[in-house]
Amino acid sequence: MNLAEAFAAYENVRQRLPAPSGRGACVRLPNLDALADQVDTFLLDAFGVLNIGETAIPGVPDRVAGLQKAGKRVLIVSNAAGFPHANLMEKYKRLGYDFAPEDVITSRKALLHGLRSEPARHWGMMATESLGRADLEDLNVTYLADDLAAYEAAEAFLLIGSAAWTEQRQALLEATLIAHPRPVYVGNPDIVAPRETGFSTEPGAFAHRLADQTGVVPQFFGKPFGTIFDLAFVQLDHPNPKRIVMVGDSLHTDILGGQVAGVKTALISGYGFFAGSDVTTSIDAAGIYPDFIIDRP
Ligand SMILES: [Mg+2]
Repeated sequence: MNLAEAFAAYENVRQRLPAPSGRGACVRLPNLDALADQVDTFLLDAFGVLNIGETAIPGVPDRVAGLQKAGKRVLIVSNAAGFPHANLMEKYKRLGYDFAPEDVITSRKALLHGLRSEPARHWGMMATESLGRADLEDLNVTYLADDLAAYEAAEAFLLIGSAAWTEQRQALLEATLIAHPRPVYVGNPDIVAPRETGFSTEPGAFAHRLADQTGVVPQFFGKPFGTIFDLAFVQLDHPNPKRIVMVGDSLHTDILGGQVAGVKTALISGYGFFAGSDVTTSIDAAGIYPDFIIDRP
């Protein structure tokens, strides 16, 4: 997928996303330091802000360390659902970041939090089996592969990682849901993620496809939906939304999510989703206006 296709894919599912609240002024600033006098707490997206794929964006580890040294709270708010939390913590450390585990808020955490109020079920799971089952030990899950019986036996479905997903598996999932509709929980609402070589297809893309094909309405956990922000606010003492900013490279997840959560929003224009493109055209097309547009994190 290229940028235009990725943007169109998000626009095509706007009916399943929250509506924008308010219209930011799109004030242009050079980097995160320029926000420091207006903000006490930074909620940072990961892909496109801290890193592209497995590489830190140059200068950002030092920038984040500087903000932390200046007394700012810096939390990660990421739609990373496929990786065990310990793996993610190792990755951020390897990239040069220093975050406490409880300050890394993922859609995996939001999903698991949401499942606590659900009855015990036998879940069919879209996930990468080689990453292991850490954090999910208490769930009764079967990894979905190419055996139709596993799809038919599941009481409900979890979509958390699509690296090993295939068109064949998607066809099996859609067919079983048409024959016998069951709940679908999505731990990563992203449709795409920026990688070193372009955009990868993420679980949200398959969730929206199955919704279009089967009429099953998936339940999403992660940006732009609110529960992931609720988990972030739990980590803050007396959070003041006017002094919190959500920073991200995606209008449809980070900026929309920040607006729905009632915090300030800053769109990264030079890295990640909109790298190398004219972001104002996309902002106008989406009608999602951030408070700030910053060239780089
Ligand atoms: Mg991102």
